[in-house]
Amino acid sequence: MKYKEIINKMTLEEKASLMSGKDFWTTQEIERLGINSIFLADGPHGIRKQAEAADHLGLNESLPATCFPTAATVANSWNEKLGEKIGQYLGEEAVAQKVNVLLGPGVNMKRDPLCGRNFEYFSEDPYHTGKLAAGYIKGIQSHGISACVKHFAANNQEERRMSIDTIVDERTLREIYLTAFEIAIKEGRTKTVMSSYNMVNGAYTNESIHLMREILRGEWDFDGVVVTDWGGSNDRVAGLLAGNELEMPTTAGETNQDIIKAIESGKIKEAVLDECVDRILDLIYTTEDVYSKSYAKEFNVKEHHKVAQEVAEESIVLLKNEGNLLPLKKGTKVATIGDFAKNPRYQGAGSSIVNPTILDNTLESLDASVLVNIGYEPGFERYGKKNKKKITKACELAKEADVVLLYIGLDEATEAEGLDRQTMALPANQVALLQAIAQVNPNIVAILSSGAAIEMPWIDNVKGLVHGYLSGQAGAQAILRVLTGEVNPSGKLAETYPLRYEDTPAYHHFPGKEVSVEYRESMYIGYRYYDTANVNVRFPFGFGLSYTTFEYSAIQVDNDGVTFALSNTGNVAGMEIAQMYVSCQSDAIFRPEKELKGFTKVFLNPGETKSVTIPFDDKTFRYFNVKTNQWEIEEATYTIIVGASSTDCRLEHSLFVEGTHAPLPYDKEKLPSYYSGKANNVTEAEFEALLGDKVPVSTWDRTKPLGYNDTIAQCQYAKGWFARFSYRTISFAHWFLRKIGKRELANLIMMSVYHMPFRGVSRMTGGVINMPMLDGILLIVNGQFFKGTRHFLRERSKMLKLAKGE
Ligand code: BGC
Repeated sequence: MKYKEIINKMTLEEKASLMSGKDFWTTQEIERLGINSIFLADGPHGIRKQAEAADHLGLNESLPATCFPTAATVANSWNEKLGEKIGQYLGEEAVAQKVNVLLGPGVNMKRDPLCGRNFEYFSEDPYHTGKLAAGYIKGIQSHGISACVKHFAANNQEERRMSIDTIVDERTLREIYLTAFEIAIKEGRTKTVMSSYNMVNGAYTNESIHLMREILRGEWDFDGVVVTDWGGSNDRVAGLLAGNELEMPTTAGETNQDIIKAIESGKIKEAVLDECVDRILDLIYTTEDVYSKSYAKEFNVKEHHKVAQEVAEESIVLLKNEGNLLPLKKGTKVATIGDFAKNPRYQGAGSSIVNPTILDNTLESLDASVLVNIGYEPGFERYGKKNKKKITKACELAKEADVVLLYIGLDEATEAEGLDRQTMALPANQVALLQAIAQVNPNIVAILSSGAAIEMPWIDNVKGLVHGYLSGQAGAQAILRVLTGEVNPSGKLAETYPLRYEDTPAYHHFPGKEVSVEYRESMYIGYRYYDTANVNVRFPFGFGLSYTTFEYSAIQVDNDGVTFALSNTGNVAGMEIAQMYVSCQSDAIFRPEKELKGFTKVFLNPGETKSVTIPFDDKTFRYFNVKTNQWEIEEATYTIIVGASSTDCRLEHSLFVEGTHAPLPYDKEKLPSYYSGKANNVTEAEFEALLGDKVPVSTWDRTKPLGYNDTIAQCQYAKGWFARFSYRTISFAHWFLRKIGKRELANLIMMSVYHMPFRGVSRMTGGVINMPMLDGILLIVNGQFFKGTRHFLRERSKMLKLAKGE
């Protein structure tokens, strides 16, 4: 232990007091020993430091900070160095606001395009995600403070995120869902990890000895702090045993008492607590060092805004450019249509919401560009139904223009934390507008704002398609610079765009509805599925156009990596993202057709050629063997593919690789879907064969009384009339708010009440309702109204007396 001396001076109460928050955002100080309180703040693409009212849903305002493009956007840059640069700027702002731990980046995999929080995550590929995230962490921590990689692990749906049990086989867990964390944690050397709300294979993640002790600490040597997601702690002592140092937010000391009791009763040894205290002290001391010297309390707002713009410019993806309509020539008469041109959609909703220092919009930025804007029409109401009047006006304007710039996308209420999207479609009123305009002007360039993949059955109606994702506070300007050619687009998609939602691999098993979600598709998510099962897609993973062209040649492969020549064969300078995929020729162990194992981004002037090397590393040929329970290499011939996207293979070369000769882990006969890759509708029996275990019952047991970990939604079948009545009231309020178009308010009910487990009532109220009071509530819920009310009131008055020191 590093801080043995100081720990020896601490009382048991003092040690326990460090194990949970002092309030919503800070840790407990111990003045007598000179241990200070530290501040934790969201979030991944900007600082959300709430100086006053606190919440974890982005409701109350925070101090102004630069809103950088979200992770889903930056992912398209495929540039680790850019990730590091954003990290440096984020870190600088965090220091200016005296933050010790910045709660990001988020590295959960995009298992399904509808996950409400995909805009905050990087990719459907773990290698890509891990590399980008490691860049952020290095940048943030270069200021001495801590990043916090989240949400560990397998948190891939938002609905019921606080209770859902992810059922996943070990190999998939390792190769897909943990690899991104592994890279981020080992290469980024993050000081803090946030555990997720959900369970994995029956254990809450922060209590999981397998995830926390065996993998995170044991295999990855992580010696930092694990903090729970806000309100995510279930059994505090079980969490401590798994090595969970910090529970957030405060429980007003209630769970510290649980720890003290467990030690006093001999249930756990004090040494377990000491270990955790040691690590949290390390976090406190190392992240407050920067504040012990003089430090910059302000940052250059304009410079940071400019950086946000550069980041957006490198992340925009050009998806279609029929007849080379883009870049637009100087003096082109454009009609600007679409609500998003005036009110940019530039970030997602929830805990990551940033209060931007400046906010560019297209209409104002257009004046300074080389285009001639003949007018603006909204064309649709963001939260409304199809509006004929608005469409007619937009069409009248469109008729007069050389080119229509059509700003469309998803609204803020659709992509939000705490709930998933219902559909992959663009809102119908926007599609109606697009189709009407296409009748009067064929030269449409659609500019898309959304943080996740959408269906595009309307794509033939547009000639140009520029995807800005959620491009941050300076995104509007960045997009205009791409449209006019001042910037040559160089982003490529970090997720596949399927033709229809029904084509997606988790379609039949997303989201988990009651108790659990079964990852029956195993490792076949994203391109791993489409490429293996030969399913046509709209845009493949890794796809993006440029205003120039690139040629690949002269491939050479040796044991260290692949080398090839890359040339810019067009007329303008540009950057190309070259991707290395590996495909195993043996079919002894099932695998996706190919997997991304390296990438690089190269700048080339017109006519220039560069020799490019993408090295192999420890992940290039490994697979997780469930028999030996470790990483192995299969002895086989592999094809090394160099591509411009996952389906655009430019060069390939085969390589024989010596293996580790581990026994084969699978019985091929029992796993036909996994061996064929057609894993979008696997039977329970086959999934069980893969799991090596029975699939747990996925539906609620409606005969049992409701307990701490049951959700408020389960009141629908509770014994108590009051609970059923409350459920109906909540459901009605949700339905009604949606009906009258108040979707954001309706969402709030879903996010903060409907899917919350009862324990959350106590964990999220900072001691206002303690666990004994919750017992009273549960008695009411389970049909003992009077007894429960009496119990609740008795416990409440006990608590109040205690607070007054009586
Ligand atoms: C989110 C975290 C966030 C925390 C604090 C939670 O609801 O899942 O990502 O850091 O709130 O705001």
